[in-house]
Amino acid sequence: MPASHTSCLCGAVKITATNINPKFTVCHCQSCRTWGGAPFFAVQCGTEVTFEGEDNVKMYQSSAWASRGFCSECGTHLFYKLKESGEYNMPVGLFPKLEGLKMVMQYFSDARPDYYCFSNETQEMTTAEIMAFFAEKM
Ligand SMILES: [Zn+2]
Ligand SMILES: [Zn+2]
Repeated sequence: MPASHTSCLCGAVKITATNINPKFTVCHCQSCRTWGGAPFFAVQCGTEVTFEGEDNVKMYQSSAWASRGFCSECGTHLFYKLKESGEYNMPVGLFPKLEGLKMVMQYFSDARPDYYCFSNETQEMTTAEIMAFFAEKM
């Protein structure tokens, strides 16, 4: 996968992600839906992500294990960053030229409200399954 370049709406932050997995995930948790007004469609970008205009990146620590980053000028959502691994999950919509995009996983499927659902066939994990998964890893 070639490096993908993108920027926020206003251009104050420019991003290069060299290693994007086009198999994207959707998160239905309340935190993601409060942040973006809708579920979070994210591509995994690993740790090989660089920023130009980093002074304009504001981070909010939304949980003990992760922070959410956005442009302080225009508000464009830039990433969800895992604290321990330093891995970035970034909004699919930031990268309009990605090829081979496929929705493969829906997180917090039990937290999805009744007013929408996707017909994509994907794997799903409930809150309990996610908690058990992370408990095993610790
Ligand atoms: Zn901006
Ligand atoms: Zn979420």
